Amino acid sequence: MRTVYLNGEYVPENEAQVSIFDRGFLMADGVYEVTSVLGGKLIDFAGHAKRLERSLGELDIQKPAAFDDLLDIHRELVTRNDITDGMIYLQITRGAPDDRDFVYPDPETTKPTVVLFTQNKPGLADSPAAKVGIKVISIEDQRWARRDIKTVQLLYPSMAKMAAKAAGKDDAWMVEDGMVTEGSSNNAYIVKGNTIITRHLGNEILHGITRAAVLRFAREAQMTVEERSFTIAEAQEADEAFITSASTFVMPVVEIDDKQIGDGKPGSIAPRLREIYLDESRKVAI
Ligand code: PLP
Repeated sequence: MRTVYLNGEYVPENEAQVSIFDRGFLMADGVYEVTSVLGGKLIDFAGHAKRLERSLGELDIQKPAAFDDLLDIHRELVTRNDITDGMIYLQITRGAPDDRDFVYPDPETTKPTVVLFTQNKPGLADSPAAKVGIKVISIEDQRWARRDIKTVQLLYPSMAKMAAKAAGKDDAWMVEDGMVTEGSSNNAYIVKGNTIITRHLGNEILHGITRAAVLRFAREAQMTVEERSFTIAEAQEADEAFITSASTFVMPVVEIDDKQIGDGKPGSIAPRLREIYLDESRKVAI
């Protein structure tokens, strides 16, 4: 059984209890982060902690812990649950007032709820999917307009994933005004020659921590990076496509809406970026 963290305490997972009035439960009034663990160390922790702070700030939720405390909690959970490879899920909600109300509770009396738990994924970086690539469908992006905040409102991404599953595919790329925003839980990219193309930052997408690192490594490897939107039709004609996220790293995409990308196998650039990302991130993991 896992040991999880809840509001200052480490408890067995079946003893962790949150109020039915918690605003995360009633209103999806909360934010989250997922940090991967490789070789017992945290990948890109500083980036995730920074984005968490920004998400909390955008929603006026009090920051419940300092960076160092959060790092300690992450590490303690890795140790207590004996995680070599896996993920740490962290969620902070606006807390549990004593009744349901649209108005935010007084932060003096209602403290944020802080939950962290581990997900054990042995061999996370050796995913078989990375060798063959994944297949995606496109779907209208019907999420709210502040996708730059990593909130726990994940119903639409979950519906998108189910639509992909129903079509016998792996994931969905969301499209707004004819342009790809991102994947259901990842950032989306296409490759043309030596150029990596991915949507520019804005409120329309989550500012992926893996995205930032991968674009940096791509530039360092003398690839050209274009941050602009693209259509599904352009993606289908690209040389390669891929996604990035904390839990999938860099994952080739070999089919979009039943159309094979290139020869239907991962090309050379996405696997190379995956290798660079994994190597470099492991070096600086904490
Ligand atoms: N976009 C969305 C909608 C996501 O949910 C995620 C990750 O969960 C990402 C992008 C990738 O972000 P990161 O690389 O920080 O995991």
